[in-house]
Amino acid sequence: MADKNNKVPENVPGPWYVDNELCTPCRVCLDEAPELIRYNADETKVYFFKQPEGDELAKAQSARDVCPQAAIADDGE
Ligand code: SF4
Repeated sequence: MADKNNKVPENVPGPWYVDNELCTPCRVCLDEAPELIRYNADETKVYFFKQPEGDELAKAQSARDVCPQAAIADDGE
């Protein structure tokens, strides 16, 4: 389960984040929300470069739902 105290460092501030320990990165979530999530510089993790707004919320939820590691959550600050 994702831990808000262990965000990928590049994650923008806000409720949605990727857990730095759990992300493999398998890249499945990138297909769901490419307007919100991308690889870090060395492609070892992914992170939210934008917090979802409006219709993007459903895409963030889809990304969370497909993550096989349960590495995406929305209980951050
Ligand atoms: S689906 Fe989960 S494990 Fe795969 S890249 Fe996205 S956050 Fe990482």
